[in-house]
Amino acid sequence: MTTIAFIGLGNMGIGMATNLAAAGHEVRALDLSAEAVARAVEAGCIAAKNAKDAVEPAEVVVTMLPAGAHVKMVYGGEDGVFEYAAKGTLMIDCSTIDVASARKVIGSAVHKGFDMIDAPVSGGVGGAAAGTLTFMCGGTDGAYNRAKPFLDIMGKNVFHAGDAGNGQAAKICNNMLLGIHMIGTCEAFNLAEKLGLDAQTFYDISSTASGQNWSMTSYCPAPGPVESAPSNRDYQPGFTAAMMLKDLRLAQDAAKSAKAETPLGKHSQDLYAQMEAAQKDGLDFSGIMKLINGSL
Ligand code: NAD
Repeated sequence: MTTIAFIGLGNMGIGMATNLAAAGHEVRALDLSAEAVARAVEAGCIAAKNAKDAVEPAEVVVTMLPAGAHVKMVYGGEDGVFEYAAKGTLMIDCSTIDVASARKVIGSAVHKGFDMIDAPVSGGVGGAAAGTLTFMCGGTDGAYNRAKPFLDIMGKNVFHAGDAGNGQAAKICNNMLLGIHMIGTCEAFNLAEKLGLDAQTFYDISSTASGQNWSMTSYCPAPGPVESAPSNRDYQPGFTAAMMLKDLRLAQDAAKSAKAETPLGKHSQDLYAQMEAAQKDGLDFSGIMKLINGSL
């Protein structure tokens, strides 16, 4: 049994912390929200009173926070993880954040004698609850190898993508591609319909032809062909358009600093920003179909 401080018990963190506790670890739960901590306690975790109480007895710290600013503050800020962690503590940040912040925080951790990796995930709330997430990790071999047994409890696929920050790089490049092919898939279904092809007929053809892609066959944005897709539930999430917009913005920030041309990534960001400005319903990212077909 390992003592683990788990900080950030929101939609994703609660499932992940629950799985660590169910595997027999002592999970010390910390969140700004008392309700989130109470849910974690119900799921077998121990409520930590503050950062000191969470981190001091822990051999491992896991964080699942909204953005880079939160991660910088939780680790390096006043009353932060670095202040209370014992030398050699393993730190795993699973939040999706900008590459530069990830590299900065991990650099500070290593400098202070800790092992740390970035380990953002894909798989969503369902994957977090089921323990089937995909982890994309950046950091030294030593830190990654220490983290792997814990990631295996929370996920199904665990990849070491290279040095610190490379997990975030893999995540945002993947999600930029996802945003692009989701919009492309919407355009194709919308045009097919306007040309007189129903969604199922176009799906049957394109899903076995060269237009086939994940957005089509696992998450079809046109209602009908893929039973489990949010398009069949009025685009209830799933993975919200706001989350997709966050990741597309991270990709654009990274592209700018790496001087990489990503014209379709930029255009996808603009379209998701338009969708976010036009809707108040917190729709799934596949609901960009409504922007494309003019029904938003
Ligand atoms: P969330 O907003 O539901 O949870 C974040 C939690 O962090 C909240 O409970 C909040 O109270 C807590 N928090 C914020 N600042 C804190 C602080 N200083 N100390 C302690 N707790 C603090 O978000 P989420 O959906 O769980 O997502 C978490 C991360 O995972 C994000 O980076 C997101 O981009 C990423 N992600 C989310 C999904 C998804 O489908 N929800 C999928 C993949 C990746």
